[in-house]
Amino acid sequence: MSQTMIHEAASITRRFAREVLLEKRSLLEKQGGAPAAEGVPLVAAMRALASSLGLRDLAQDIALDPSAHDGLFAGPALGAALLGELTRVLPGFALSFGASFGLCGQSILRRGTEAQRTQWARPVLAFERIGCWALTEPEAGSDAFSLRTRAERTSDGWVLSGEKSFITNAPIADTFVIFARVHDTASASSGPALHGQIRPFLLERSDRGLTTSAPLDKMGMRCSPTGSIALDAVHIPLDRLLGDPEESGKRAALETLLFERAGLSAMALAIVEESLQLALAWAKERKQFGQPIAQFQAVQLRLARVYAAQETIRALVEQGTRLFESGETSLAWLCAAKYTASTLATESAMEAVQILGGTGYCTDARVEGLARDAKLLEIGGGTSDIQLLAVARELLKG
Ligand SMILES: Cc1cc2nc3c(=O)[nH]c(=O)nc-3n(C[C@H](O)[C@H](O)[C@H](O)COP(=O)(O)OP(=O)(O)OC[C@H]3O[C@@H](n4cnc5c(N)ncnc54)[C@H](O)[C@@H]3O)c2cc1C
Repeated sequence: MSQTMIHEAASITRRFAREVLLEKRSLLEKQGGAPAAEGVPLVAAMRALASSLGLRDLAQDIALDPSAHDGLFAGPALGAALLGELTRVLPGFALSFGASFGLCGQSILRRGTEAQRTQWARPVLAFERIGCWALTEPEAGSDAFSLRTRAERTSDGWVLSGEKSFITNAPIADTFVIFARVHDTASASSGPALHGQIRPFLLERSDRGLTTSAPLDKMGMRCSPTGSIALDAVHIPLDRLLGDPEESGKRAALETLLFERAGLSAMALAIVEESLQLALAWAKERKQFGQPIAQFQAVQLRLARVYAAQETIRALVEQGTRLFESGETSLAWLCAAKYTASTLATESAMEAVQILGGTGYCTDARVEGLARDAKLLEIGGGTSDIQLLAVARELLKG
C-alpha cells in the first residue's frame, strides 16, 4: 500500500515539477525566498505541491498515529522519491521543501509527544506552516555539538538565548526546531538532571525575542532562503521541549542528520541524471570538425563517466532505502554514501559543463546551475571531510 502511495506521490510531484515549477523556476531563483507583492512565491509553490499531494489529510492521520498508511513518513523512501523529482527541475526548491517536511516536520513526528505531533508536526507536514531545523551556529559548524545556544530553566518554562547560522528556510519559517544546551542548576529538585545536555526545543515566529536575517546571497540553491536566527531571551513554556526530556538531543540530531544524508544522496542522483540527459542531447546535436561532438572519444569518455556516477549513486540510494527499511542503517555506510554521491554529483555536473563548452558556462543551458547547486551537497548535512572522518572513526572502533 505505501509503495503504491509513494509511486503516486512521485508521479504527482513529477507533474508539478514539469508543469508548475519549470515555469516559475527563474522567478523563484531570482526571488530567493524573499517576499513579493503577493507574498513569498516559494511558500505559495510549496503549498501548491502539498495540496496536490493531499498532505493535509495525510498529515492529520499520521500526526494522530505515526504508523498510519504503513508508516509512510517513517523511512526515507517517500522523501527520496519527492526530492528526486523536484531536484531535476529546481534543486533549491527540493532543499527548502525537504528542510520543512523532513528536517523539521518529520523530526517532530518521530520524537514529539502526541500533543506536539498534532499541534506542531501536523501543520508543518501539511505545509500550513513552514518549518526549519537549526543545529549549526557561528562557532559550531562541523563541531556542531559544541553549540552555545542556551536554554535556561525557569519556574514555569525555558528562556532561550543564542544564535543559529546557515539555517535553510529561517527567513520564511513559522516553526523552528532549535537545539540548545540546557542550563538547569536546580534540576535535581525539579526533574531529570539535564544541566549541560543538548535538547531540541519548539519555537514559533511570534515568540518575542526571536528574529531572523534576510536570505543570504549564495553560490547555488538560490531559490532556497538560508539565514540566521537570533534568540534574545525568548521565553517559552515547559512543553516546548521536544519529546521526552530524558531522551538524548544529540541522538535526535544525529538521527535527523542520517535522514538528511539519505535525502541529499537522492538529490545528488537527480542532479547527475539531469546532467547526463542535457550532456547527451547536446553531444548528439552539436557539430564540430564536421561531425557531432558525440563522435569524439574524449567526449564519449566524459559521458560514460557521468553514466557510471549515475548508476553508482542509484545503487547507493536504493541500498540506503533497503537498510532503513530493514532497520540496519549504519553510520559508516550512510556517511560513505553521502560523501560518494555528493562528490560525484559536483564532478558530473562539471563534466556536463565541459561537454557543453561555452554554452555550458552560460546560465540558460542549466548545467552551470546544477554544478553550483551540487556543491552544497558536499557541505550541508556535514562536509565531505567530516563524512570521511566519521567513516574512519567507525572503522577504527573497538
Ligand atoms: C545552504 C546551506 C544550508 C544549510 N542548512 C542548514 C540547516 O537547515 N540546519 C543546520 O543546522 N545547518 C545548516 N547548514 C549548515 C551546514 O550543516 C554547515 O555549513 C556544515 O556542517 C559545515 O559547517 P561550517 O560551515 O561551519 O564549516 P566549518 O565547520 O567551519 O568547516 C570549514 C572547513 O573545515 C573542515 N573541517 C572542520 N573540522 C574539521 C576536522 N575536524 N577535520 C578536518 N577538516 C575539518 C570542513 O570539512 C570544511 O572544509 C547549511 C549550510 C548551507 C551552506
